[in-house]
Amino acid sequence: KVKSEGRNHIALYSDELTAQAKQRVLLETRLRNALKQDKLQCYYQPQIDIASGKIMGAEVLLRWHDAELGHIPPSVFIPLAESCGLIHHVGSWVLQQSCRQLKTWLDQGIAPFSLAINVSAHQFNKDQLLGLLEQVLIDTAVPAHLIELEVTESALMINEERVIAIMQQIKAMGIRLAIDDFGTGYSSLSYLKRLPLDALKIDRRFIEHIPQAHDDKQITSAIIALAHNMNLKVLAEGVETAEQLAFLTQQGCDYYQGYYFSKPIPANEFVALLQR
Ligand code: C2E
Ligand code: MG
Ligand code: MG
Ligand code: MG
Repeated sequence: KVKSEGRNHIALYSDELTAQAKQRVLLETRLRNALKQDKLQCYYQPQIDIASGKIMGAEVLLRWHDAELGHIPPSVFIPLAESCGLIHHVGSWVLQQSCRQLKTWLDQGIAPFSLAINVSAHQFNKDQLLGLLEQVLIDTAVPAHLIELEVTESALMINEERVIAIMQQIKAMGIRLAIDDFGTGYSSLSYLKRLPLDALKIDRRFIEHIPQAHDDKQITSAIIALAHNMNLKVLAEGVETAEQLAFLTQQGCDYYQGYYFSKPIPANEFVALLQR
């Protein structure tokens, strides 16, 4: 009896594993097809200049709606793409697509603003990235200074000297660099000082409980001061309330984005927002 129970237990466990593995393979196949058939979509979330209250840019956020599986969030499909190697394809698609969109907007005379594009740690540590960036700038003819790449601290931790060299080459092209989710990683300040950065983005987790959380307010104002001391711009992510914006304004934060102004929206809605 004991023996058979044991066997059943193992059988159940391996069934679960199989189900998980099947689900992964299914998702991976569907993501591959979505890419091929242009079924991913770039959404745009406005970035606001706090002093003027004007839209100065947009962050590009990828969306995937699958006909059968429905909406699949980036927190699911980006890690999946990273683990199966599709991230290079995804990343290159996002860059090309969003830069083409920016070029269209510039040609239509919509006020110049910048695009912030997320780059995965996996992309960042491959030589392909530099060639891809060069190609996109040539293909789309967007001015490099209107492109900002967002990288998380984890992307910077893999090989420090190499990361610095890659960043310097990206800067030499005229592209801007920002650290995303700042404050949640483990990079040291002496290392950050060596990076050719333009901006820090304060992670949403520090903004979320302002104004109630005293410690989060302290951390946020410390990051703003740090950024300014390093001659960097600073943006607060995930701003949802007027109180949060008031605190950031009082602390001299440069930019913000968040549901308080707008969620990420499709390109056509973004244009409508700009024209209001
Ligand atoms: P992220 O780059 O830190 O993007 C900010 C996330 O916060 C986005 O989630 C955005 O929709 C969400 N957000 C913005 N304002 C608010 C707010 O006021 N309240 C709340 N609760 N959330 C807000 P999203 O779009 O689900 O993306 C999640 C993450 O997936 C991104 O975090 C980024 O790391 C990754 N991601 C998205 N698109 C891409 C992409 O094209 N390439 C890569 N490599 N990663 C991407
Ligand atoms: Mg980002
Ligand atoms: Mg972020
Ligand atoms: Mg994030």
